[in-house]
Amino acid sequence: MIVVMQPNATPDQVEHMVDRVRAMGLQPHLIRGSERTVVACVGDERFKAPEQLAVGAGVEKVIPVLARYKIASRETKPETTVIPLGSGSLGGAAVGLIAGPCAVEDRVQLLETAHAVKEAGAIALRGGAFKPRTDPYAFQGLAEEGLEYLAEAREATGLAVVTEVMGTGQVPVVARYADVLQIGTRNMQNFLLLAAVGETARPVLLKRGMSATLEELLLASEYILSRGNKQVILCERGIRTFERATRATFPVAAVPALKQMTHLPVIADPSHATGRADLVEAVSRAAIAAGADGLILEVHPNPENALVDGAQSMTPEAFARLVTACRKVAEAVGRTL
Ligand code: PEP
Ligand code: MN
Repeated sequence: MIVVMQPNATPDQVEHMVDRVRAMGLQPHLIRGSERTVVACVGDERFKAPEQLAVGAGVEKVIPVLARYKIASRETKPETTVIPLGSGSLGGAAVGLIAGPCAVEDRVQLLETAHAVKEAGAIALRGGAFKPRTDPYAFQGLAEEGLEYLAEAREATGLAVVTEVMGTGQVPVVARYADVLQIGTRNMQNFLLLAAVGETARPVLLKRGMSATLEELLLASEYILSRGNKQVILCERGIRTFERATRATFPVAAVPALKQMTHLPVIADPSHATGRADLVEAVSRAAIAAGADGLILEVHPNPENALVDGAQSMTPEAFARLVTACRKVAEAVGRTL
């Protein structure tokens, strides 16, 4: 259930309700919206009496939250959460672009890509230093050396850095260098990892598991949110189906469906969803038309020689064209880019 405070409730009254909720054996989560503050109550509510909370000073009403993902639900917070990122943000009127190579391969490759995507309009740089590879003999990433290049690229361009963390043991080192911690599709239900990033102060980019439902994605986000980290970005990266023409299947309806279910910003990853550079722009336009708050895209200065995901990596020139095309779509649906 959520305790909705009156718009003019005092800090003392809010504090009192937080204590009351805790005394009832529930975990209180304060969510401050632009209009009012609510206290989301997490825990087994079966034996708790909402009437006892409803009479508190400064309380407007107590309402049950029907969704199992209590903190992520739009019922708890009607307005979309805005997460600042680099020179922009995700979740506001502007569509934000995160771009860069699949993997950090070397210093020159990364810096060249960073300057190019910044120039074209990206607000953040992506690039894996720890790569989750299906084949254990394939390139696994540069590890901390890659993180150092990412930090240097941020310094040089002002782009925020988004990079993947694969296991709990890597959380401290990745959080030291990165602005956003990415959880990959293969780890969406690694609950210990979700809890560990939930303890950090870094925003988390949570990718949908390739065979997870949207409810499972939101319950995964709840593991992060309930640890106190309220900055979660959800990413639709394509799901596994019988189709073989594309690497995954991009379910465009997931974008507006998630936007209805949650206040968290929702972005799309057309690179992994299609696996084909020639389809990335069209799917990017579709995602923005469907209401995505941003995109994460793979860009490589020389896709032919990419160590990872070359087939789906765009050249910097193709990325610049994509930005121009997507800007028109963003404007057509009342956004900016
Ligand atoms: C990636 O972003 O490079 C990546 C490995 O993505 P996913 O987890 O969606 O496969
Ligand atoms: Mn990739």
